[in-house]
Amino acid sequence: MLAEKISDHLKNLAKKSPAIKRQFYLSKWELHTKEDKLNSVDPLLEDEHTKKRGLIYKYRGRVLILLTLSCAAYCRFCTRRRCVSELEKGLLTKKDIDEIARYIKQHKEIKEIILSGGDPLTAPNLSAYSLKAFSALPQIKIIRIGTRVPVSNPKLVTDDLLKLIRKISQPIYVGIHFEHPDELTPETIKACEKLRKAGAILYSQSVFLKGVNDSYEVLYELFSRLIEIGVKPYYLYRCDPVQGIEHFRVPFEKEIKIATQLRKNLSGLAWPTYVIDTPNGNGKIPVPLEFWQFDKKEFKDFLGKKHKVI
Ligand code: SF4
Repeated sequence: MLAEKISDHLKNLAKKSPAIKRQFYLSKWELHTKEDKLNSVDPLLEDEHTKKRGLIYKYRGRVLILLTLSCAAYCRFCTRRRCVSELEKGLLTKKDIDEIARYIKQHKEIKEIILSGGDPLTAPNLSAYSLKAFSALPQIKIIRIGTRVPVSNPKLVTDDLLKLIRKISQPIYVGIHFEHPDELTPETIKACEKLRKAGAILYSQSVFLKGVNDSYEVLYELFSRLIEIGVKPYYLYRCDPVQGIEHFRVPFEKEIKIATQLRKNLSGLAWPTYVIDTPNGNGKIPVPLEFWQFDKKEFKDFLGKKHKVI
């Protein structure tokens, strides 16, 4: 069960913003969940693709490293709610990082690492150790950091982190999780500016969430403002079929309608790719919009396997 943890920054925002409140405060609907055929605890099969402690290798050439299972605040719709917030299990050690580096060296095709979690920026020493260790591998050409810290606790974008980013020669892409324009506070905007000025390339990831951002106006404002602060909207996801978050799932038809309106009216630069993450972990599949005729019931993954839309 995902613990409840809300940063002071978000607690203050939640007083005025129902969208923030819904994302971070425990709701009774989570407790009413039950196992069924549609929802599972690990729909993306991450556990199955774990090669070493904290290392997920699913897509050829790039690996995901779960540095810690702690976050500055826990999002109630977290896809990794099966493990996130289990602190004693989750924090990697320097020895684990050295082991992962050894694995990468034995797999020369790996060129890209993604530091994730939990939120890697809540473990600054380990993040620094990992950034140094992985950037020292000549085969690594791209480094990504997946974080929600600029939204949940912008103070964790520290001078030490910025100094380190400046020193690393590989491009560092920082993927920040945004859901609603109420998250774009002066502190968050400043944190993004600092990261950008240190040389990081910023992009966003968002999920359609019922009662939070299932509205054309909300997402139009979010993506328009993100691009203004130097954050490229990258992916807009359909909510994963994870047990315990069914109440966040938006009807598929509604999402397509909103996404179509967004595509018509946003600048191309502000438009993220709207995708379904396949329930068996075989690809992020772009959803066709209302410009195309399709039955909206089935799609094929990267391996050509058919799936029903959940
Ligand atoms: S910040 Fe990311 S990993 Fe942490 S709870 Fe939110 S979605 Fe999950």
